[in-house]
Amino acid sequence: MSVIVGQDRVVAALTKAVQSRRLAHGLLFLGPDSVGREATARALARGLLCDRRGASAVVPFGCGVCRGCRRVEGGSHPDVHIVMSDAEAVARGLAQPEGKKKPSVEIRIDAIREICRQLPQRPYEGRTRIVIVLDAHRMNEHAQNALLKGLEEPGEAENMLVLVAPGARAVLPTIASRCQRLAFSPLTADAVRTILRHKGVADADARAARPGVHSVAAALADEEGDDDAVSRLVIGITLRQTNDALGDRLQLAADLSRDRATVLALLGQAELRLGAALRARIVLGDATAGLGADAHGLDEVSALEGIAAARADLAGNGIVQLVVERLLLGAPPSILAGRRR
Ligand SMILES: [Zn+2]
Repeated sequence: MSVIVGQDRVVAALTKAVQSRRLAHGLLFLGPDSVGREATARALARGLLCDRRGASAVVPFGCGVCRGCRRVEGGSHPDVHIVMSDAEAVARGLAQPEGKKKPSVEIRIDAIREICRQLPQRPYEGRTRIVIVLDAHRMNEHAQNALLKGLEEPGEAENMLVLVAPGARAVLPTIASRCQRLAFSPLTADAVRTILRHKGVADADARAARPGVHSVAAALADEEGDDDAVSRLVIGITLRQTNDALGDRLQLAADLSRDRATVLALLGQAELRLGAALRARIVLGDATAGLGADAHGLDEVSALEGIAAARADLAGNGIVQLVVERLLLGAPPSILAGRRR
């Protein structure tokens, strides 16, 4: 995909920086997983190494068709280095696990030292060297200090470092302070749908419309057995916050199991999903600067409060049916029916 979908603010900031030749040599791409941070880093590398760079039409992500762009895209450009943990490399099929040992989720300090050894040298093609560190928080303190030392080493080469991390606090302040920060937002359902369609995912629309889906990975994750019940419950609890769709909520309350353990398990899963959706919104401080809390996020908070109360009631031996009704309807249906005109 030549354009980055759903991250207009980031794209605008990068475009402006490249156009005015003010792109920092260190960039911190912050935000939740799977919303375009890595894709943007790769696209930026393409733009910096595009054979037609300088032409306004190819700022900031390159033309996508020249030899330079195609080599970055295909992972064969000698001046683009992508650093990741062994576990990530194995998961992507880029490396084989060594024997029976579980691949490390930390980024090896050796990998950082190797990159740092190259930093002062001229890039192979004499232009710019781009180093992208995926999950930069997977560098332990030693690795981060090694990187910092490498960055401070004087050299004539032009290097661009892109650190992909959940939040600025995931890397040492000494590193974060050297980088320009760009905050990626959780994706809207529209953006997820556009990306899935572009990828040719058959049920793109249905996946994008699932509640709590704010990233491509979440949309592509396979749902588990009871997922339909969890989805209905999440929707029901969320609708209760706005007092919408009473009919649906009455039906759901009637359909839900009267078995305490089953209801507790469903509540647990609904809680996880709402929590993930909420975390995607408020990632880590910086990533949401300027986003503001929208009504939807507040719904999720009250929905989580509702679940917590229901769990407490169930633990305290509340009658399952009444607990479920209070959670979905706010009051037992008999009372509610009496209030309706
Ligand atoms: Zn190009």
